[in-house]
Parts: sequence; structure tokens; C-alpha cells
Amino acid sequence: MARYVFITGGVVSSLGKGLASAALGALLQARGFSVRLRKLDPYLNVDPGTMSPFEHGEVFVTDDGAETDLDLGHYERFTGVSARKTDSVSSGRIYSTVLEKERRGDYLGKTIQVIPHVTNEIKDFLKIGEDEVDFMLCEIGGTVGDIEGLPFFEAIRQFAQERPRGQCIFMHLTLLPYLAASGELKTKPTQHSVKELRAIGIAPDVLVCRSEHPIPEREREKIGLFCNVRKEAVIAAYDLKSIYEAPLAYHREGLDQAVLDAFGIAPAPRPNLERWHDVMDRLTNAEGTVRVAIVGKYTQLEDAYKSIAEALTHGGMANRVRVKAEWIDAEIFDREDPAPHLEGFHAILVPGGFGERGTEGKIKAAEFARTRGIPYLGICLGMQMAVIEAARNVAGVARAGSEEFDHEAGAKRFEPVVYHLKEWVQGNHVVARKADDDKGGTMRLGAYSAALVPGSRVAGVYGATEIEERHRHRYEVDIAYRDRLEACGLRFSGMSPDGRLPEIVEWEGHPWFIGVQFHPELKSKPFAPHPLFADFVRAAVETSRLV
Ligand code: GLN
Repeated sequence: MARYVFITGGVVSSLGKGLASAALGALLQARGFSVRLRKLDPYLNVDPGTMSPFEHGEVFVTDDGAETDLDLGHYERFTGVSARKTDSVSSGRIYSTVLEKERRGDYLGKTIQVIPHVTNEIKDFLKIGEDEVDFMLCEIGGTVGDIEGLPFFEAIRQFAQERPRGQCIFMHLTLLPYLAASGELKTKPTQHSVKELRAIGIAPDVLVCRSEHPIPEREREKIGLFCNVRKEAVIAAYDLKSIYEAPLAYHREGLDQAVLDAFGIAPAPRPNLERWHDVMDRLTNAEGTVRVAIVGKYTQLEDAYKSIAEALTHGGMANRVRVKAEWIDAEIFDREDPAPHLEGFHAILVPGGFGERGTEGKIKAAEFARTRGIPYLGICLGMQMAVIEAARNVAGVARAGSEEFDHEAGAKRFEPVVYHLKEWVQGNHVVARKADDDKGGTMRLGAYSAALVPGSRVAGVYGATEIEERHRHRYEVDIAYRDRLEACGLRFSGMSPDGRLPEIVEWEGHPWFIGVQFHPELKSKPFAPHPLFADFVRAAVETSRLV
């Protein structure tokens, strides 16, 4: 049976709970334990699938097709453990399950209450797969004291109470603000945050304190004393240059030791941190910089393309170069010539996206990359735009476009080279989408395999002819145009196993031009950079040598 670490936050939001959880997961793995990480989000949306990337950052997709919080991306990048549908839940999902059960009569006419019905539902969620791993790390979103979060805090309190002693611990993240005028770190907000936690019956075993300044020994003692936590379990978390420093930094501060001590695991297995030393070596000993333009829509919030930014960093690590990603709003190209904006970049990436806004600019970016011989990676919408560009400007389909942009009834502005798919094959069964399906959950989501054409560039990049990648889209490139486009040199080098859905296109005779219908960035890890990103950055390095 798994041991549980519940991770909560206090004082302010955005303290890096997700990163601390992910780093702890990596450290427990380094000591030979198996882990699974889980996120419990207090918001009322049923899942993040329909939340705006502006507000919520990227939607991370799992192999089994769940649309989840971007923290699950961190978990995967640090532990390499593929997240599942059952690793993320929101209040909205919990309540909707409870209400469904009530409608079905499962509660036999009882009065439905937060305690026990909602809390039981949360506890059942926590138990899923508990026999599979040594440690289950469960992060509670938000901050202690939030109204929405209360049922989750109550549920983890009950959970720990019901389990044998020593099976669950609580780790709490706080902030130590620094008062420049007096040159002091202030511990009072931390004390209050712990008080709040204790008022709802949770006593933290480990305190992680974010601080911009070194925490003096006596402050650590004071925090320990006032918060009723052992001094050794008061862990400093300083600002880091790279998130990938977190496992080594937390190890230095004694986080994994404190956690194992709290469980009474002695002697603690020695850690093997080679993987993280290698990651840091690649990050710090990089030579040269390549500039990659990301032409997208959600450019104001970097978190909107979190996994892409990380995968590019990993690609840089694979080549021992720094990747400087610069975000360019595609809409600028509606008004202005892209050339002056894109010249000087060593590669261009057009990421995924939804809706028409900015798409003409993305098409122009694809044209610029194709005609100038600049490495291009088109992801999902970025592939669709590359295909439309090829159809319009090379294959003579003047009105080529996507059905996604002809949503008004009867409007037929475009010839649909990219069309709305209603039925497809997953594994060995057919999935159908009804016209009146909800907004959420009507996409081709999760892992699908693709067959690569032997001898193609992608087959070389992957070193394989069968791959599996994660999808999140409604529209597909129409194979009816395959012959015409291939005759012009746009090769369909990856297809769904049944041969119906184009998965990858690449320009023949171009230094590096690949469009993929899936999201390779979701599977990239610092210790295992995704082959497409590694090779894309390699091509960028080559371009940088030419200019
Ligand atoms: N909007 C496009 C579709 O639904 C692309 C989606 C994406 O880029 N993730 O097919």
C-alpha cells in the first residue's frame, strides 16, 4: 500500500507547489522508490479542457485522453511517469459525480452533504491505484483558507486519520517575505498559515519555505518552534535559475531526508542523482545560442505554451546549446510583412491553437519558412496551416482553408483541405462524435499510433516506423488532397494505422520542414529530450552556422 504525501500551500499562491511536488517525486525515485503524482484542484470547472489558456495556462493531455492541469506536465517531466486520467480531479468533477449519483438514487434518499458525500468521493479518488506505487504525492491546488479548497482539506484530514499511523504526511509550502528596511525575513505569515491549517485539523510534518534570502539558523529554529515542526523539517526553497535545478537544490536542503524521516524510514536508501547532475551539466555547459520564433496566439502568457518552451529547452540540452525562444503574435502578420520580423531566427515553430484569429499570420510564417529554407516545426494547428499554405501557394487550391473557420451556417469561404472529423478508429474500435456533443470531450484526445514512411525524414528522426503520440484536436487534413500535395513535394510521411488520417507532413528538398498533427512536446523530458525537438534544434544550430 502506498504512503501518502499531501502537499498544500499557504500565504500566497504561485509558490511553486507543483514544482516542489515534482522534485520530491524525482528525489524519491532517485532513492529507489516508485511514485505517482496527483493534483486536486478546487475550481468548479469539470476539467480544464474548456478553460482559456490566457487564464489557466496550457491544457496538458495524458495518454489516456484526459485534459488536465499543466502541473501534470511538470510531474511527468520530472519523474517520467505517464500521468493518467485518474491523476487529476477538480471540485467540479467531484460535485458532478456526486450529483449524478444522487440523480441515479445511489444515496437512497439521504440528505447529500459536503461531509460525508463530497469528502468520500475525494477519498475514493485518492485511493485509486494505491497498491501500484510506494509513494502517492497529492498536491492540493490553491491556498489554505480558500473557500473552494475546504472539502479537499477536510478529505485529506479524514484520510490520514483513517489510515494506520505513519502512512500519511503533510507538507506545507509557505513564503518568508523579506523586509528590506529592517533587513529581516518575516516568519509571521508562515505561522499564521500553519495556524490556519491546524485549525482544520492538519499538522504539517514538513515545511517548505520560499525565500529570496538565506534563512538563518535561528529563524529556522523559530519557525520550527512556532509551527510545531522539527527544525530539520523546515526546508528552504530559494529562487532557481532553472526549474531543473529543483531536485538537486531540494536534496541539498534536505527535503527528501525530511520526508523519509517523517515516515520513519530508516536507514534511508542512498540517492542516485546522476540523472539530475547530467541534466544540470547540459544546462550549464551549453555553448552558443539559437533563436527560435514561436508564432502563436496566446503569446502574452508564457504558461499557455509551457510544454513547448520546456521541450525546446530539452532540445537545446540534447545539442548542448541554449535555445532562446521568442514569442511573436501571429496577428501582426495580418498587417505587416513577416520577413523583417522573422529574419534572423534560426528556426520557426507554429504551435497548436483554436479558432481563426491569427491563422492567416501562421500561414504566412509557414510560407516564409518554406521559401527561405528555415527549419519549421508545425504542431497541430501549425501543421494544418502548413498544409493550407502548400495547397494555396504550391498546389493551386486558391481557397484552401479549414472547416474550423467556416462555422457560420452556409458560409463557404474556404475549400476544406482541413475538415471536421466525425468518426475515427482508436485501437480496434470506432469512436463517433455527435453534432450536439458538449464543448468539452469532443476531440480526438490522447495517445494514438502512427505509421511512418520508411526512408522519410521523420522515420530517421524517430529511428522507428511506428510511434505513439498525444492528440488534442477536432480537425484533420483531408487525404483527398494527398496526391496533389505529394506531387508538389509535400510528403505525407506519417499516417494513422488505418491510412485515413495524415499524422505528419514534410517538405522534400527543404533543410527541415515538418508538421505533426499531435503534440510531441507533451512527452519530452529533460533527461530524454523528444527526438523531434532534439532534431529541430540541431537543424536550427546548422542554420545558425550559415548566417
Ligand atoms: N484547432 C485545430 C483542431 O481542432 C488544432 C487544435 C490544436 O492545435 N491543438 O483541429
